[in-house]
Amino acid sequence: MTVRPPRRAIKELQAYDGAIPSSDLVMAANESPFTLPEPLLARLESGMRDFAYRCYPDPLATDLRKKLAEQNGVAPENILLGNGGDELLLDTLLAWGGPGRSVLVFPPTFSMYGIYAHTLETQVVKIPRDSGSFALDVDAAAARLSQGDVDLCFVDTPNNPSGTLTREEDIVRLLEASDALIFVDEAYFEFSGVTVLPLLERFDNLVILRTFSKAFSLAGLRLGYALARPEVIATLTKVRMPYSVNAFSQWAGELVVEERSAFEPALRLIRSERERLYSALDALGGVQVWPSQANYLLFRVAEAHEVWRRLLDDDGIYVRDFSSAPGLTDCLRVTVGSPEQNGRFLQALADRMGSGTLLSAHDKRVPDPILSAKEAAHE
Ligand code: PMP
Repeated sequence: MTVRPPRRAIKELQAYDGAIPSSDLVMAANESPFTLPEPLLARLESGMRDFAYRCYPDPLATDLRKKLAEQNGVAPENILLGNGGDELLLDTLLAWGGPGRSVLVFPPTFSMYGIYAHTLETQVVKIPRDSGSFALDVDAAAARLSQGDVDLCFVDTPNNPSGTLTREEDIVRLLEASDALIFVDEAYFEFSGVTVLPLLERFDNLVILRTFSKAFSLAGLRLGYALARPEVIATLTKVRMPYSVNAFSQWAGELVVEERSAFEPALRLIRSERERLYSALDALGGVQVWPSQANYLLFRVAEAHEVWRRLLDDDGIYVRDFSSAPGLTDCLRVTVGSPEQNGRFLQALADRMGSGTLLSAHDKRVPDPILSAKEAAHE
């Protein structure tokens, strides 16, 4: 038996590899290191038994939508929930992308923009970020948009993986350059505290993405939302899967909104740990680290892939390896963890950096004076 091939665009695609190698400590997916706050866990637990599991979910998540609208100072018609922010990215490309259409991206940035664009045979126009600062080239972007043939533009702020924030006045320039839909991905907004939400009153062509996956410790339940003008939301609603956001996630989302203040201590701690981690990495010889407004830090080290492999194999710490990605030579990304996790990561990295040439230190089995107990056992 044979099977006829899928569309050419699909045949050429590589599947997203989200597999997590076995490790003691995952600092690679920008998740929160903390579980849900106690009051929220208690409410989830007490509602579990009587939950309406047998019923289909409300397609538009009406109750959650209302609560989010109130929290953000907008109307429910300005909001659409999705099965993670990912679904809303795909919905946006389903509606604004497709054959004969173009999307503008600023690499290095979140890879799913390009992946969904390719899946839907959408042309991808790239304007690379500055190779030193990862700042967006707003003059080039505005000029490209003003040509009029770009349909959709993704701005990730803070940008994944660099952590770079894009200034509001730069986003305004993009919004004013054409009628292209400007998709501002604020997946890490709670860590930066900076949003372009007030611009929704002025611009028809703005979409903002938020997620419950990062600051709200809910990556496993898949919940994200878009904020936009009602006409844009109505268009996205046409292409979405009606029951994509399950009832349990909707309920958990409502509890998160109601218990929002219970997340504050963890958010404060992650932000201060980010600064501590930044200073420690900056002080480590041989490491270049970029300032970040998110819950991760991008850094460059010599022989980065080897450092990554040894952190994983020898220390059981999994960070994200971007060392062979375009524009990110020798770069790794570490998610800010708990103080204990960050300490463990820093110690492991310092050990690697302190042991001279990584390969030769490993191969020559030079005794390392600061070997952890685990490594010592392996030796
Ligand atoms: N945007 C960015 C920039 C991200 O990093 C992510 C998750 N890695 C998402 C969107 C999607 O997040 P989720 O689907 O978990 O809401």
